[in-house]
Formats: sequence, C-alpha cells, structure tokens
Amino acid sequence: MSETTTVPPDCLFCKVAAGRIPADIVYQDDETVAFRDINPQAPTHVLVIPRRHVPNATEAAAANVWEAVMGAAARVARQEGVHDRGYRLIVNCGPEAGQTVDHLHVHVLGGRPLTWPPG
Ligand code: 5GP
Ligand code: ZN
Repeated sequence: MSETTTVPPDCLFCKVAAGRIPADIVYQDDETVAFRDINPQAPTHVLVIPRRHVPNATEAAAANVWEAVMGAAARVARQEGVHDRGYRLIVNCGPEAGQTVDHLHVHVLGGRPLTWPPG
C-alpha cells in the first residue's frame, strides 16, 4: 500500500489483525496473522493476512509483504500436517476472481484431494 492509501475504517481483516473481532488464530508473528476460515472449503482452510492493510495481490509487491505472508502460509501448512500430502495456496484478486474481502489474504487449503482447474 502506498503512503497515501487510506486504510478503510471498516476493514474486516484489519479488525481480526487488531483483535477487535474474534477469530480462531492458528499462527501469528510480527507481520502476519493466520486464522481459520469461517466457511471452510476443506479440512484445513486457513487465511493468512499481513497485519497492515494491503488491499490485494496487485498492491502486495509494492507493500513488500509477499515474503512474510507466503512464509507464514508454508509454516501453517506444516503446522496443520498437510505439507507432505499436498496443499494449495490461493489468492483471489478482484471481482472476477471472487475476492470478497479487500485485505490481502492467502487461502491455505488442504486435507482432501483438490481438483484442477478451479471454477
Ligand atoms: P475471498 O473470497 O475474498 O478470497 O475470501 C474471503 C474469505 O473470508 C472467505 O473464504 C470467507 O469465508 C472468509 N470470511 C469472511 N468473513 C469472515 C470472518 O468474519 N471470519 C473468518 N474467519 N473468515 C471470514
Ligand atoms: Zn485491512
């Protein structure tokens, strides 16, 4: 996010990161928080977010958050015990990809066979 971008005051995942709404947090560090998706699509379905507001994947490189977020996602996969059998990292970006929360999040999905291609 650029210095001039405003953080939306009602951002759901900013509230999760700040502990202002409850979430089932499975991992956190200085830069990221990981919590279980409220509507899981697989036995493991965790969302990994940067603590600071970054709206989407397009903005993530400039905000320099990929390393922290993807590193945390791999740690979550290992912690969940899906790293050997396989798992999927998904980032929906924009309306046609189905992004519904405008705060960058990586879905960590695993624990069942995942079909390809996605819908
Ligand atoms: P998107 O569709 O933007 O890629 O993913 C947003 C995800 O956030 C969805 O999978 C949805 O189930 C999840 N979600 C939406 N609201 C909440 C919430 O309040 N808590 C949690 N833990 N997950 C949420
Ligand atoms: Zn936010």
